[in-house]
Amino acid sequence: MKVRFAPSPTGWLHVGNARPALANWLEARKRGGTFTLRLDDTDTERSKPEYAQGIEEDLRWLGLDWDEFFRQSDRLERYAAAAEKLKKAGFLYPCLESEEELNFKREQRRKQGRAPIYDRGALKMTAEQLERALANGKQPYYRFKLNTRTVSWRDGVLGERNVKLPSLSDPVLIRADGSFLYTFTSVVDDLETGITHVIRGEDHVTNTGIQIDIIEALSGRPNRIHFAHMPLLTDAEGGQLSKRLGSISLRQFRRDGIEPEAITGYLAALGTSRDPVAGTPRDLIRDWDITRVSHSPARFDTKQLLALNRKHLHGLDFAAVRERLPEGADEAFWLAVRGNLDLLPEVRDWFDVARGDITVPEQPEERDLLRAALDALPPEPWDEATWPGWTAAVSGATGRKGKALFLPLRRALTGEEHGPDLKTFLPLIGRERAAVRLRRSIG
Ligand code: GLU
Repeated sequence: MKVRFAPSPTGWLHVGNARPALANWLEARKRGGTFTLRLDDTDTERSKPEYAQGIEEDLRWLGLDWDEFFRQSDRLERYAAAAEKLKKAGFLYPCLESEEELNFKREQRRKQGRAPIYDRGALKMTAEQLERALANGKQPYYRFKLNTRTVSWRDGVLGERNVKLPSLSDPVLIRADGSFLYTFTSVVDDLETGITHVIRGEDHVTNTGIQIDIIEALSGRPNRIHFAHMPLLTDAEGGQLSKRLGSISLRQFRRDGIEPEAITGYLAALGTSRDPVAGTPRDLIRDWDITRVSHSPARFDTKQLLALNRKHLHGLDFAAVRERLPEGADEAFWLAVRGNLDLLPEVRDWFDVARGDITVPEQPEERDLLRAALDALPPEPWDEATWPGWTAAVSGATGRKGKALFLPLRRALTGEEHGPDLKTFLPLIGRERAAVRLRRSIG
């Protein structure tokens, strides 16, 4: 079994293409196959080296690795050879119509109530007409002559699918400047590199009909490649996700401090009936089953992703995050704060609360309570018994209980209304800082 993930380096990876990337990787790893990363970079105008590099970085960040790598721009002579073969066999024919001419013809057909597909006018061109045009400096582009049949396949996700080729225009495979289009280069590569399974987005279903026809023309035998299309993702409201690509790029999630395990866990469960569980791609292999992916569009809800991220952080061991914590943060600190994080970078603020100098609100109306608390501060060393013992003493001295007791103290000690359990967090603050903050809060 051999699969490929084939992004075009014309933008950053986002969750819409990370999902088929992960699906391909999981299939390969689950079934002992080969996973190839292929950069579809024949569109030289839109492809950028920084995107190519960014794609590799983002895939690695997600935890995906690949067994083979190549870029299409290194294989131009292979495409030229394959094109020659198709030309000789009469599958590729030269065209000269301009964009304006094609638009005009499309409009005419529409007015006549016919499907606005290409009328194959170029096939009626005589050899002399073509020669004269070439002599006048015209450059032809080439279309592939589609069969007049319906292409059917059993889709690995969508089930029985078919595409009626007669209702489509013959696709352009070679531009007038001699460059090749993705529809063609992809088929050449899939055949020549021995791809057995193509897993990609549902937006490619029509392409698959066309590409199966090209595969058969090029290889001279029935198609053997299995196709599976992942239904498109929508946003939480069911709208198009593609409108907000920037906000769902892997780069942006990484910058925001989302853990890659939350993204891979979320993507692997999307569209299935399973609850997402955060995990590295390797953790997800066991439960992965592409046949459980639903036919209908899946909602990508950033709120759910964030909830999964939170849950994941709350269970992480110190060893897993140690290198990403502020200098000096120890295990006790991590265990005290991890349950209060939505995103790991927030840990910085809690570290300042534990070990740094923070501003706390003045609470003149709580003066008596805070004074009593200051007077009752026990000597160090402090441990988990300190907070209950101290607050019991303050309660005894002031008669305060519950929220009326705890909230002003929490505000004075941390500057916040909510936060880590003070039983574990107070010893991290220590007596000196606690005393300073209580005095400041008294005003
Ligand atoms: N470069 C194509 C894309 O990004 C690849 C599609 C495919 O997997 O064949 O849409």
